[in-house]
Amino acid sequence: MSFKRDFTEEEIAVLVEAAADPGFGRWREMIRSTGGCADPIHLHGRSEIIDPATGEVLLDYDTDKEPLHRLLVACRNRRASRCPSCAETYRADTYQLIRAGLVGGKDVPPSVIAHPRSFATFTAPSFGPVHHRVLNADGTVRLCQPAAGCRLRHQKGDPLVGQAIDPGSYDYVGAVLWNAMSGALWHRTTTIVVRELAAVAGMSERDLRRTCRLSYGKVAEFQARGLVHFHVVIRLDGAEGPDQEAPSVFTVEVLEDAVRHAAQQAVVWAPAGAGTGGRRTVVWGREIDVQAVTLAGVGAAEVTDQQVAGYLAKYATKAAETTGTLDRPVACWHCKGSGADSSGLRRCGRCGGRGSKYEIADLTLNQHAKAMIQTCWDLGADPALEELRLRPWAHMLGFRGHFSTKSRLYSTTLTKLRSARLEWRKARLLRFLGCPEEATLHHLEDDFDPDAETVLAVGHWQYLGRGHTAGQALYARTIAEDLAEERRLARFAPNDEWEEPA
Ligand SMILES: [Zn+2]
Ligand SMILES: [Zn+2]
Ligand SMILES: [Zn+2]
Repeated sequence: MSFKRDFTEEEIAVLVEAAADPGFGRWREMIRSTGGCADPIHLHGRSEIIDPATGEVLLDYDTDKEPLHRLLVACRNRRASRCPSCAETYRADTYQLIRAGLVGGKDVPPSVIAHPRSFATFTAPSFGPVHHRVLNADGTVRLCQPAAGCRLRHQKGDPLVGQAIDPGSYDYVGAVLWNAMSGALWHRTTTIVVRELAAVAGMSERDLRRTCRLSYGKVAEFQARGLVHFHVVIRLDGAEGPDQEAPSVFTVEVLEDAVRHAAQQAVVWAPAGAGTGGRRTVVWGREIDVQAVTLAGVGAAEVTDQQVAGYLAKYATKAAETTGTLDRPVACWHCKGSGADSSGLRRCGRCGGRGSKYEIADLTLNQHAKAMIQTCWDLGADPALEELRLRPWAHMLGFRGHFSTKSRLYSTTLTKLRSARLEWRKARLLRFLGCPEEATLHHLEDDFDPDAETVLAVGHWQYLGRGHTAGQALYARTIAEDLAEERRLARFAPNDEWEEPA
């Protein structure tokens, strides 16, 4: 292990203390096998691997024989702010998934390369002027927004960027409702794309759905101003999905036009509540960017499949915290923010009836993020807006969608990618145990063919807790950084078709 950065005296003290623990060597091994997880899960228990034909115990693992009396496994959190190394696994999987939908691989036929595909970005409209940092063509920073009262040239990383210039007149209600309705707006948009395509071909929508199918992979990203926007790969297949081509009338230009028109026309209505000023319309902002996806990436309006997949995968591991808000809920998990118990008659015992885990005013967040959270909290008390579940999603500034979603036939799934990795690990374990090539590993409770070459895993596990001490956390971070470096170097080496993402 090498340290690439300087530690403070205090950090050195906790590092030394952690390394002095008699179980440190084994701890380091386990954390390395989690990829340097920042918040590992601690388990107690045992597992046996048995050859059912002979009754021979091939492997007997028991945490009581471990120096620390526990097994550490990865947390698998997708958020880079919570666990950079597990987020990296998620990012790599998302990359594979998005890329397979563009060029084939992982159950998707390579013929999808010939299907119309485009990459679009859908943003929110303005809810009032915010501080921004825009560069001129020569790289100098433009004056922020002189007309709105800010004549600064904001430096890179200035925390003011994204915050309302005049919080008193900023439309926080509109912004929060927009985040809350953005998923519905996306669904509305896809139905209009289908309608537009039908119009081009002179077909009814029903007939269109019999000849082609719209597939997409989509990632949500928060802008500095706390509004979500979507990056989407859209692909047009034949009615059966990726194995089939759509009729030739549907070129990539026709698809792009349909997407642009749909973005301009799509509108949904947010429910009206006491504090919403009536029933508000929710539409996309004017900046809709649609680009063709090509292999070479020639021309200004084209991007390559690798760029698109890399871009989407990167955003899939970020959430609202990149805009300076929280990475965990404000609402009490028990009562979902209502402050009442399940009968609705008594106060929730967990939060004492407050509904929240924190006082929003006491959170160390910027003013803009606090105002968005407070607006969610206030509107969330209104029964007329109940369906938006604004209190449980206040930390996400009202957005309650998934960060990465895809239509059913766009590509492979994250579950399939994970189980492929699990199978790879099982096969490695069987080779290690000296089992025959065709042997498979099963859990006692699985369905399996008793006549085939099979070994059985029997296990009993119990949850002990999670996390690190201060010193362990520093070591884990260093391990994660070392592994990332190894991965970077491995990219220059020849690779198998199946890359095992650590
Ligand atoms: Zn983790
Ligand atoms: Zn400014
Ligand atoms: Zn509660």
